[in-house]
Amino acid sequence: MNVCIIGAGYVGLTTAAVLAKIGHTVHCIDENEQKIAALQRGEIPIYEPRLAELFTDHQSRLFFHHDGRKHIQEADVIFICVGTPPDVKGKPDVSYVNRAIDMLIPHVNDHQTLVMKSTVPIGTNERIYERLKNEGKHVRVVSNPEFLREGSAIYDSFHPDRIVIGLRDDDDRSLSIMQTLYAGIHAPYVVTSLSGAEMIKYAANAFLATKISFINEMARLCDTYGVDVVDVAKGIGLDGRIGPHFLQAGIGYGGSCFPKDVTALIQMAYEQMVRPYMLEATKAVNDTQINWYVQKMKRTLGELAGRRIAVLGIAFKPNTDDIRESPAVLLITKLHAHGADVIAHDPKATLPLDVAVKQAKTIDEAVKKADALIVATDWDAYKQLNWEEVKRMMNGNAVIDGRNSLPREAIINAGLHYIGVGRR
Ligand code: NAD
Repeated sequence: MNVCIIGAGYVGLTTAAVLAKIGHTVHCIDENEQKIAALQRGEIPIYEPRLAELFTDHQSRLFFHHDGRKHIQEADVIFICVGTPPDVKGKPDVSYVNRAIDMLIPHVNDHQTLVMKSTVPIGTNERIYERLKNEGKHVRVVSNPEFLREGSAIYDSFHPDRIVIGLRDDDDRSLSIMQTLYAGIHAPYVVTSLSGAEMIKYAANAFLATKISFINEMARLCDTYGVDVVDVAKGIGLDGRIGPHFLQAGIGYGGSCFPKDVTALIQMAYEQMVRPYMLEATKAVNDTQINWYVQKMKRTLGELAGRRIAVLGIAFKPNTDDIRESPAVLLITKLHAHGADVIAHDPKATLPLDVAVKQAKTIDEAVKKADALIVATDWDAYKQLNWEEVKRMMNGNAVIDGRNSLPREAIINAGLHYIGVGRR
């Protein structure tokens, strides 16, 4: 098939690589000229494992354009993968989606299928369908929300737990078109209405965020009772009704999706005059998790002002360079505001320009002479540190495990003081 993808970000580029591997011809269009120029030179603007390899292997079927009108006209399927960031009130800003539709309208025809991968408020796809119809364009509209996890986006795209397809009741062609597009990807299909698919996406992210906030609240309680939250997570996670995933206590969830999607769903509930008690609680726990953790650090370390603190991790999670809503960046900012002499490190991510903290090039440079070391993003490189060596390099002896992912015994055996999240 001939596919056009509007928006060459984390979702658009991953979708492009996956569809090219399946055998489709893919034209990516992005309004960011610099990004397109870099992609045309073979440079990939984001870090995502296996993405570069797929781009190289399938370059004969992958094309990048700033002005892609001709390719839109020739496409069988057009994907929308543009951003939907929160606006000032926390509602999703759909202006990027609207701009993409404005750009498409003169060039689309009745034989084409428009697939929405961006996470959009409930009702958006129906409205887009109506808008196209009013312009005389009888384009099929499909809602196909994306569930990939940054850091394992390629794996997730080839091995999804499910493929959600939202369709209009009168659409009897799009399901088979989507099945042809995703040929070779084996997953159960959940077929629902356009709004149903939009709701599934928000509900999935809200549920996962709720699990994280739940275990973080349990960690706070565990701290007061001297109970180890890792045992609690294991003890409840082995219950098949609960499941083990997303029960790792830490400094909170972040990234470009969970905070934005939970807030968006809260706002949508308010608009419908429904009080979203659970979502409010999920957000409240997350919004206070860093402060709770900084208070805990102050209790353990004493005054933070003037203390040299190495923060390992800047990205919102490992295996990505994405720092959007990163709890690590928030933690770094708070420690800096408390007067700590912070030095940060990350294998791939870079500190935002407005954070006036030094970024070390190597882990050793960050750790050397540190009074305390905090792991804020659980990259493998941090879990595999030689803790005797760390002890020799540090001034102090506090190792603060903000993700409950470090080998506690090895750290203690090296003579260091281990402080986790809700650990005894
Ligand atoms: P992103 O910011 O990385 O990429 C969006 C791209 O779209 C940018 O390159 C931007 O220049 C381009 N763009 C914006 N408006 C455009 C327009 N009118 N025409 C052409 N290009 C335009 O965003 P992302 O992380 O890939 O997310 C895209 C959507 O997918 C969002 O709605 C997000 O919520 C959803 N989503 C993201 C993830 C994720 O892990 N990143 C996972 C699931 C769903």
